[in-house]
Amino acid sequence: MLLTPTRVTLHWLQVGHCRHPEWITLRGGRWGAAKFPSLSALIMHPSHGPILYDTGYADHFEKETRAFPYKLYRLTTPAALPAEERLGAQLAQRGVALDTIARVFISHLHADHVAGLRDLPRARFTALRDDVAGNLGRSGMDAVRRGFLPGLLPPDFRARLDFADDLPVVDLGARWAPFARGYDLLGDRSLIGIPLPGHSPAQLGILLWTEDGPVLLAADACWSTRAWQECRLPSVLARPLFHDWGQYRRTLAGLHELGTRSPQLRILPSHCETAWASFQRPLHA
Ligand SMILES: [Zn+2]
Repeated sequence: MLLTPTRVTLHWLQVGHCRHPEWITLRGGRWGAAKFPSLSALIMHPSHGPILYDTGYADHFEKETRAFPYKLYRLTTPAALPAEERLGAQLAQRGVALDTIARVFISHLHADHVAGLRDLPRARFTALRDDVAGNLGRSGMDAVRRGFLPGLLPPDFRARLDFADDLPVVDLGARWAPFARGYDLLGDRSLIGIPLPGHSPAQLGILLWTEDGPVLLAADACWSTRAWQECRLPSVLARPLFHDWGQYRRTLAGLHELGTRSPQLRILPSHCETAWASFQRPLHA
């Protein structure tokens, strides 16, 4: 891909978190509980304005998991959302109001990635078709076992939804192999949608360029920096959470190959505290 892409400013926000034994999320990990943040990206684009990639947790998650069977989700994933981690509070600190967000790119429909969509009244949403098809319309246990809480989506979700699959395809060339093709999410090649299937039916990653170089927002294609660096899978106990384990392994191997070959590329998983901490920038930057 030969181009001088538009640079964006990226704020990588921790919007709630839960705790899991590290050995579940990473084979060979510690027995003790590790913090598992839910991360959301605020992308400041010079002409499109503020854009979000996922929302992390929101108060809606607590409300939607009060009754069975949805309560099972919270029992297995006890989440915390301190006031200072709320999405609205963190956006306000950066001069952005929730009702000025016009676009949210959704990595996938798991509750910890979309819980705040109802707080964004003016936003349109972009997701991959297979992820939507695999979840929308499901309810009860059929939804819970997929990590999907239908009540988190705004009632007019479908009317506000666009599919990344319908956007122009970009040939990425050898530089980003084995990821060969992406979607031109904004029409200016500043954000390239990269399919990262396996964790969910499709899963949308984003390749973008900041002043400090390229970044790949990798969602749950890997749960930590160590996972892609060492090509280390989660415990088999976590396997039921995955849509297609074989596909997940191939995507993780692809991240390992690309990340190892491209040290200037920063890969940001959506639940890695280490990657989050290393990416923090001063609020006024
Ligand atoms: Zn997740």
